[in-house]
Amino acid sequence: MRVNAYAAPAAGEPLAPTVIERREVGPNDVLIDIEFAGICHSDIHTVNGDWGPQPFPVVPGHEIVGIVAEVGTDVERHQVGDRVGVGCMVNSCGECVNCRNGDEQYCVKGMVPTYAGTDRDGSTTQGGYSTRVVVDADYVLRIPASLDPAAATPLLCAGITTYAPLRKWGAGPGTKVAIVGLGGLGHVAVKIAHALGAEVTVLSQSLKKQEDGLRLGADHYYATSDPDTFTELANRFDLILNTVSARIDVDAYLGLLAVDGTLVNVGAPPEPLSLDVFSLIGRRRSFAGSMIGGIALTQEMLDFCAEHDFAADVEVIPVDYVNEAYERVLASDVRYRFVIDTATLAG
Ligand code: NAP
Ligand code: ZN
Repeated sequence: MRVNAYAAPAAGEPLAPTVIERREVGPNDVLIDIEFAGICHSDIHTVNGDWGPQPFPVVPGHEIVGIVAEVGTDVERHQVGDRVGVGCMVNSCGECVNCRNGDEQYCVKGMVPTYAGTDRDGSTTQGGYSTRVVVDADYVLRIPASLDPAAATPLLCAGITTYAPLRKWGAGPGTKVAIVGLGGLGHVAVKIAHALGAEVTVLSQSLKKQEDGLRLGADHYYATSDPDTFTELANRFDLILNTVSARIDVDAYLGLLAVDGTLVNVGAPPEPLSLDVFSLIGRRRSFAGSMIGGIALTQEMLDFCAEHDFAADVEVIPVDYVNEAYERVLASDVRYRFVIDTATLAG
């Protein structure tokens, strides 16, 4: 099955139209007519070669929403006409301890990423900047009917990547949570942390987006360019979620944690981060990382967002705007997620 797509031909090259092959629908597969594909900063890291060599050409896109067009003979959980989503992984072994615990993203044999990964049949996966995709039904999520489909799209990565650590480290009533970076992940994190009942503070480079941050659900908003921020907020937070795509001064942020507080890094800059252990031991603090989230938790997150009546704030774009959108994301000029209308790929 040949479908239209947008691909990066080589590291750092602009994305351009192409045609790719999708596999035939197998017994446990779902064919999805893609409606929307979100632009995650991870797409940009990948095609720019920040994270090492990639199997070019790469069709990015791991925030996918669309309509089921066909299901395999063994598929029971999805039906033709359903609105569904696909996130960052399209397969895993299903048998290892992590898969059995619902942490498929940490599959011992390696989960299959939605693009630039090796599928179980040996082919290279290609992502959502395309018109159709075939995915194993177990990795396909239900999109609640009450959510706007374009706005729901970023939840498939930005939503689960922030929901998972906020839940794991107990964000809720009585906890003080800081979100570092108000971009794609950060703005969804603010909404989720607020909906969970936490007291939410945004730590952004400047105060330019303060009004938005407060509207999204933050209780406080500070500029990290102002050194007073780090003295005023010292020892304040139970949990800090760092969503920044570049290096940060880890010690400065650890200094904002209370006793037993945790700084969870979800931002994935190419360069190593370093820290002074005294930033940890003086107050029994932790520095942690977290990668997306399991399939069951992703469904829980989608249902949670629907129940609390929110999704992402998106700017819907035609596919030929994608290279400009990348530039704007790199300039922190995104409010707050670009989503490609894949109807603009048809024809
Ligand atoms: P994004 O929309 O570009 O947001 C990142 C935000 O970080 C920016 O909006 C900006 O916020 C802040 N920032 C950017 N450069 C900065 C710098 N030099 N210094 C300080 N702050 C800076 O990106 P995203 O899509 O949310 O992704 C964020 C990171 O998470 C990326 O590295 C991505 O690869 C990673 N990620 C990880 C996972 C995971 O599973 N762990 C999943 C998805 C994405 P302000 O303007 O408010 O300062
Ligand atoms: Zn992502």
